[in-house]
Amino acid sequence: MSTPADIDAWLAAFALDGVLHDHARQVVEALPQEVRLDLMLDARFLIADYESGPGRGMQVPVGQPSRHSVSRSVVFKRSLRRNHPEFVRYVIAHELAHAFLRNAGRSPEEDPEQAADALAAQWGFPRTAWR
Ligand SMILES: [Zn+2]
Repeated sequence: MSTPADIDAWLAAFALDGVLHDHARQVVEALPQEVRLDLMLDARFLIADYESGPGRGMQVPVGQPSRHSVSRSVVFKRSLRRNHPEFVRYVIAHELAHAFLRNAGRSPEEDPEQAADALAAQWGFPRTAWR
């Protein structure tokens, strides 16, 4: 479930833009096992990307509806790939942190944005100065 080939196959199912796929693979490979398995074993978890631009609507796939749990989805604009590679990986790690934390903080008092940045940094993807 955690070899580079497993991670690549899991990500391939989301059919991301090739550049974003490669960045996401590097981030997922760097995640702690506990986090990676939390995401990979959740059949409702989705990563998607979409092309934004004039005349284009935003199409966001959603997971199978469930009475008991809300799907956890991470959606990126494809234009993200035009940013600095370290910034792209920071954004991906930050969004995966939100998914792992179910959009909450690590404690009831913690701001979810700070929590996501802190986890991303812990995983090796700190917020960068450049974009
Ligand atoms: Zn955020």
